[in-house]
Amino acid sequence: MELNRVYNFSAGPSMLPVEVLEKAQKEFVVYKDSGMSVMEMSHRSKDYEEIIFGAEKTLRELMNVPDNYSILFLQGGGSTQFAMVPLNLMNKNKKADYVKTGQWAKKAIEEAQKYGTVNIVASSEDKMYSYIPKLDPATFSKDADYFYMTLNNTIYGTHIPDSKIPDTNGIPVVGDMSSNILAEKYDISKFGLIFAGAQKNLGPAGLTIAIVRNDLMGNAMDITPTMLKYDIHAKNQSLYNTPPTYSIYFAGLVFDWVKKMGGVEAMEKINKEKAAILYDFLDNSKLFKGTVVKEDRSLMNVPFVLPTEELNQKFIAEAKAKGFVNLKGHRTVGGMRASIYNAMPVEGVKALVEFMGKFEVENK
Ligand SMILES: *Cc1c(COP(=O)(O)O)cnc(C)c1O
Repeated sequence: MELNRVYNFSAGPSMLPVEVLEKAQKEFVVYKDSGMSVMEMSHRSKDYEEIIFGAEKTLRELMNVPDNYSILFLQGGGSTQFAMVPLNLMNKNKKADYVKTGQWAKKAIEEAQKYGTVNIVASSEDKMYSYIPKLDPATFSKDADYFYMTLNNTIYGTHIPDSKIPDTNGIPVVGDMSSNILAEKYDISKFGLIFAGAQKNLGPAGLTIAIVRNDLMGNAMDITPTMLKYDIHAKNQSLYNTPPTYSIYFAGLVFDWVKKMGGVEAMEKINKEKAAILYDFLDNSKLFKGTVVKEDRSLMNVPFVLPTEELNQKFIAEAKAKGFVNLKGHRTVGGMRASIYNAMPVEGVKALVEFMGKFEVENK
């Protein structure tokens, strides 16, 4: 690889496409004919308006976002959305249904409990979140203000694909798409709201994207800080205050890259290929073992373990020496986790699997 870049399997911030990094590098000091860096630009300038509105337009096209939804460029990470969602949407019966599929869902639940009643309709906590619990609409609350799911569980390596979004009988579905936005196709019209922090599939940290159906905005709780109201950001086209200007610019370059790659459908196809290489190896290995049930495996985050803690440590150290970095698993799962977001090339996954094969032979 050029410039001695390693294969970075970090869960986030994570790898970005080299050609996007290089494009940003070229425009770093002087952006086009503006005479300045994007970082030095007024967010009210003509040049910057082109950047932010251009990025919004490309994202709308990539995700096929219907006209009655607003795309918002926010700050505060996915974690701030855990509060923004209930503050803005728990506005009728002060009640919401949540699916508990991991740490991120747990944090979202704890935050929502500050503002209303949370009903946990399904949980996979009993088996360390290694599967997606069955979602039976008959068990959902009839009077919930919304229904909340984490679409890709970054830590445990499970996902809920578009085909498994339950029918909530008109209750708005909220989806945390932080770790699989633009990586697999979702029909946005099934959702009331989706959100994603940028640092896994979209660009540098500091930017959070929310896509909100317009009729759900404007009824936030009275206590909601102005900056946490979706409608304020929508009315001001994400320019109510200074947005994370450089992160938005960079995400725009990533959107252009995804478009050039063939869009979300093409990305999903490549992601399925990459994930299959790793899962096939794990299924055939006598030493390595995947930790997630087959039918719920994430395309983005692949956790796996070796038979002993000693071997896990040995593998992580030897992998690092070979240029496969950040493979250490989350502390609650142990072992390893390979995060293979959009920017991880197929060759990176192939090289990792080849290395794992060698490790298996040497450590039988
Ligand atoms: C990383 C992550 C978050 C938290 O994102 P921050 O931007 O660090 O607040 C929330 N949900 C999921 C699914 C994530 O992967």
